[in-house]
Amino acid sequence: MSDVPYREVTTSCNKSSDVVWHQASVSRIERCKNNGHKPVVLWFTGLSGSGKSTIANAVDKMLHDLNCHTYVLDGDNVRHGLNGDLNFTDTDRVENIRRVGEVAKLFVDAGLIVSTAFISPFIADREMVRGQLAEKEFIEVFIDTPLAICEQRDPKGLYKKARAGEIKHFTGIDSAYEAPTQAEIHVETAEKCVEECALQVISYLTQHSYLTSK
Ligand code: ADP
Repeated sequence: MSDVPYREVTTSCNKSSDVVWHQASVSRIERCKNNGHKPVVLWFTGLSGSGKSTIANAVDKMLHDLNCHTYVLDGDNVRHGLNGDLNFTDTDRVENIRRVGEVAKLFVDAGLIVSTAFISPFIADREMVRGQLAEKEFIEVFIDTPLAICEQRDPKGLYKKARAGEIKHFTGIDSAYEAPTQAEIHVETAEKCVEECALQVISYLTQHSYLTSK
């Protein structure tokens, strides 16, 4: 695995030149050895209702049962706290993803396998987060569910509201979703149960040696 330290990146913040990076005394290789697996971000992207949160949590449970150190960052939950000041304008959506990318990066630095469940509709934003992490520490997981099925599931009743004009800029209805073209993992949920979808992710991690510290 890489021992690239959590590094500074260009952000939208006006950082003072007096802010100096403090080197951590525990390296990520040492954390990785203790944890017995490699740290990585599993970036779940897909339409609302596609199954991001459901599958991310199923993956998290499987990894937890394998004694991995994990966490799930969920779009709706983060908007209750850290990103509670943001709304759904294009600018705020970008800032939402930028902050989540930074938090995910901290979790990776702490040695965790972090699953994030955000629609993250724009390719440029997802690539921005990929660019914030070392190679192999960002895995894009495309939860590919046709719009018609998402709308049929409508777990939170949001499509109904969007169709009624009560929610504006709703992804898939009147706001674009840019599907990944080269996601590391492409999960087509329409014909599979949640467990099969989650196992597809676990199997990728196993095959690519993420679940070992070597
Ligand atoms: P998202 O996080 O993408 O908005 P959710 O996970 O909140 O989506 O909701 C997806 C809904 O679809 C849940 O009610 C879930 O039980 C249902 N569902 C049915 N089949 C699947 C599947 N194969 N994978 C994921 N979710 C599924």
